[in-house]
Amino acid sequence: MTPPRTTPPRTHETQPETQTETRPETQPETQTETRTALPPPRHAALATRAVHAGRDDLADLGLHAAPLDLSTTYPSRDSRGEAERLDAFGAGEVPPGPPVYARIGNPTVARFENALAELEGCEAAVAFASGMAALSACLLAAVGAGKPHVVAVRPLYGSTDHLLGCGLLGTEVTFAEPEKAAAALRPDTGLVMVESPANPLLTEVDLRALAEAVAPVPLLADNTFATPVLQQPARHGARLVLHSATKFLGGHGDVLGGVVACDEEHARVLRQVRFLTGAVLHPLAGYLLLRGLSTLPLRVHTASATAAVLAQRLAGHPAVSRVYYPGLSHGRSAGQMAGGGALVSFETVGDPHAAIGAVRLITPAVSLGSVDTLIEHPASISHHILDPQARAANGISDRLLRMSVGLEDVEDLWDDLDRALRAAA
Ligand SMILES: *Cc1c(COP(=O)(O)O)cnc(C)c1O
Repeated sequence: MTPPRTTPPRTHETQPETQTETRPETQPETQTETRTALPPPRHAALATRAVHAGRDDLADLGLHAAPLDLSTTYPSRDSRGEAERLDAFGAGEVPPGPPVYARIGNPTVARFENALAELEGCEAAVAFASGMAALSACLLAAVGAGKPHVVAVRPLYGSTDHLLGCGLLGTEVTFAEPEKAAAALRPDTGLVMVESPANPLLTEVDLRALAEAVAPVPLLADNTFATPVLQQPARHGARLVLHSATKFLGGHGDVLGGVVACDEEHARVLRQVRFLTGAVLHPLAGYLLLRGLSTLPLRVHTASATAAVLAQRLAGHPAVSRVYYPGLSHGRSAGQMAGGGALVSFETVGDPHAAIGAVRLITPAVSLGSVDTLIEHPASISHHILDPQARAANGISDRLLRMSVGLEDVEDLWDDLDRALRAAA
């Protein structure tokens, strides 16, 4: 067998546009006066930045590993100065100086935010307690700005679809095909929302075409499945890039978190929403997410290479009637993704539940993006919250299985899959 490629294709990392970083050179907690080490160059390859981003000041602090700060409050004897800084925090800014209170900001979480913003090619990032908390903040920001109408491109993550459909946060949704999104805009449209590749059929949407069609309404792209390793939606015109950090960014199945990478203007509003609603990311989660980012390129490229092999083999398996994988079942949008990703979906000829019951190495579980391979039945689990008509209209068949490929050896995974599929056929 050929081992999966672990080296990212350089061509995707040296695009001229990846070199035009707009991030501020100094971060609030950076002690510029005492700086002795120079930060790594901003134009370094993604694999390099994934290891160094958010850590520029560590050497000057006399540290190697990023510190974990669990403080809920911080000492301050200058109340007058603090009042001014609080006004700035209240406006969603990040003024220089020490933190004030854990719901306003935390240095460990800020490291993760700075690193993710850099990897997504955005000015800023704002972290939340979960992916759904991050999405809720984006929706509340739109409602707060008097633009509660959202145009959303299906298919979407099940809870996202449900949150938009039920209008709990005061939004009103119009679901539209990508080509019809522009026609669905209204004067009160605050957001256009899309996932690419989309859950669970891994359909790709041309992000640049969509962003241009709906401008000046901001496009919110959920980049959970692709990660910045395979695609950076902000470079294609998305103003807001959302992640369930619970998935690939954390990468080990032990952190719940969410994050939105965006321009500073949106970040200020999102920080205000976070401060007022309290949906903060726990510092330990921020610590683990920063640590997760350093191996993100390695994990995503390896899992993606294995997934591509498995998708190809599944397409020829007698117990499989259909395979969904970017670039395999449907054409990939030109140049948008640097690989097909770690998710493979397929329809079984036999009972999909029997196949799930028969896997031994692969874990039957919802979620994705972990070091180990997971498999689930979307109609019962991840997309159960949708009504059956919505599922059918979105092509989510009762025979569909969705697999999130991990870092196991490709032959071990294939043995397990092949055996389980034959047992179920
Ligand atoms: C998991 C997921 C979410 C929700 O994230 P949580 O961290 O579970 O709140 C949103 N979008 C996508 C694509 C997801 O996979």
